Amino acid sequence: MKEIYPGVHAVQGKLGPRWLIQYILAGERTLLIDTGVKGSASSDIYPYMESVGLGPGSLDYVLISHADVDHFGDNATIKRDHPKAVLLCHTLDREMVESSAFILKNRYGWYEKHDLAYPEETFRWLGDVINADIPVDMTLSGGEWIHLSAGWSVQVLHLPGHTPGHLGVWDPKHEAAYISDAVMGYGLLNREGRIISPPPYFDVEGYRGSVRKLIDLNPSALYTAHYPPMKGREVNDFLAASSALRNAWKKRSSRRSGNLQDRSRSRPLQPGSTRKPVRSAKWPTNSPVRCARTSRIWRPAARSWQRWQTVAPHGLSRKA
Ligand SMILES: [Zn+2]
Repeated sequence: MKEIYPGVHAVQGKLGPRWLIQYILAGERTLLIDTGVKGSASSDIYPYMESVGLGPGSLDYVLISHADVDHFGDNATIKRDHPKAVLLCHTLDREMVESSAFILKNRYGWYEKHDLAYPEETFRWLGDVINADIPVDMTLSGGEWIHLSAGWSVQVLHLPGHTPGHLGVWDPKHEAAYISDAVMGYGLLNREGRIISPPPYFDVEGYRGSVRKLIDLNPSALYTAHYPPMKGREVNDFLAASSALRNAWKKRSSRRSGNLQDRSRSRPLQPGSTRKPVRSAKWPTNSPVRCARTSRIWRPAARSWQRWQTVAPHGLSRKA
């Protein structure tokens, strides 16, 4: 937990083996990005806010980055204690943010039709860490500006892929992007910096576009929900890793399924096609990921590559 720029705070809590971080941007108006899981307000967010002089009612905007339980789970508590705060999320994620029944069925349960499911206790946990359903106040589509003080405005970014309506926040004053789970390098990390899961995303082209959007934005610093803060070269490395993994997977899936549409060439690959098969589905060892700190993080990813072919994201497994 710390002030990363004057008035900008990272509230760092834990989620199982991972970090879980919310951000507070406090000018004349105060914006909270994400509410964590049920209980995060009292265990992490409020104690930190009080330590920097932000009491009940001090929030003006609460922006939910996306529809996952660890990002909107404590909406009800935050809204109860900050009734005037405007609760925001993207239009495309609204139903899932507002209704636990809806998200359990349509985000965490949709795999069932493919005979994939979370272990029962994980599925139960997903429901348990969502506080009472409450409506959001306003939905966004990306591009909106939130004015925090004279001379300090931040822009909402639409960064789809992990969810359809994933949002980030661009803070030009600090050249910083707060992107939550929008892009995820080579995978999710535990607190020791080891990769413990492939990056879960659901819209490949959306994810690719989001990586590209962030590369074009060229932020000096990147702040996420589950990774250590990144600056300078670490930002480039992380975005390069996100892009490299996506491409490696794409090659892999094209090779595996002869009848999958290879969208990069926009004509179907047919079984028995005379086109040369994609040969290299190896870990992208030549990717520009060389920074001392991040290579310590990313190198285990290469070793995990084999494993990712049998393990689905988010701990899903074949139904018994
Ligand atoms: Zn998350």
